[in-house]
Amino acid sequence: MVSACLAGENCKYNGGNNRSEKILRLMAGNEVITVCPEQMGGLPTPRVPSEIRDGIVTARDGRNVDREFRAGAAKCLEIALRERPELIVLQSRSPSCGVKQRYDGTFTGTLVSGAGVTAGLLMENGFRCIDGEDFAAVCNDVVIRKPAPGEIRLLRDFLYEAIFIPEGVDPPEREIVERPELKIYYDGFGSGPADYCLVAETDGRVIGAVWTRIMNDYGHVDDETPSFAISLLSQYRGIGIGTQLMREMLSLLKECGYEQASLAVQKANYAVRMYMKAGFEIIDENDEEFIMVCRLKEPADPAGRLSFPGRCPQDNSLPEH
Ligand code: SF4
Repeated sequence: MVSACLAGENCKYNGGNNRSEKILRLMAGNEVITVCPEQMGGLPTPRVPSEIRDGIVTARDGRNVDREFRAGAAKCLEIALRERPELIVLQSRSPSCGVKQRYDGTFTGTLVSGAGVTAGLLMENGFRCIDGEDFAAVCNDVVIRKPAPGEIRLLRDFLYEAIFIPEGVDPPEREIVERPELKIYYDGFGSGPADYCLVAETDGRVIGAVWTRIMNDYGHVDDETPSFAISLLSQYRGIGIGTQLMREMLSLLKECGYEQASLAVQKANYAVRMYMKAGFEIIDENDEEFIMVCRLKEPADPAGRLSFPGRCPQDNSLPEH
């Protein structure tokens, strides 16, 4: 879900927009709902600008427009509850869409902390909203690439980050990743034929990783199917980087001729929805987890062989670990 003005719609109070090329890039290939709560609340475009003064949305000409703003916010919430968007990116500082800041009601350009009416309502209802400028700053620099020599050792830390911790439960000791059933995710990584890894980097720092190997882990389905592991530092979750990592890895596996990839995920993990959007489907389950598979196979050629021209096998080398 994205503020319509960020997507280039001319819905701003002055009839213009806040078009963001980064937002448009995010929208490409994703299902996106654009919303303009002020228009949805019945206000015209162009319109007199408004700010929140003493909790009441007031137009610069003194008119009380609180009812319209709250009606638009309620409609956005209704859509969000129905569609459950994976990511909500809203225009900075708006009296409707602002996530962290808004103008103080004096029409003097003075900012105060606090959300606009729509962003506030969405967040009160448990939706994570991202400020458009913050989103653009992170997206700006995120590079998905193969790990550099020495970075494979980060998989151990990223595995810890990937452990799903339900709300109210204390995180486990970091040494948990030394347990044999977890160590198989990273021990000797690079030695197996399906040991592939991609990392996400921003500002010179690796902030996430996706990696695969054929191993007898929770998501193992057969000896031909690589299992997936994906992990992002918590502050970078929910802004589409995980989806980008997954897509890149699925495309790499496909180019390498793998017919499918699998994973196991705890049923309560928010990532289930992200995996489904990336093409994974549930094929089995136990009390706690879903086993999911993403089918990569394309129709076989007449000789019954698959053909995937691309990065493999010449470019599947990994650095020394
Ligand atoms: S209400 Fe939101 S989407 Fe509409 S113009 Fe203002 S900031 Fe943009």
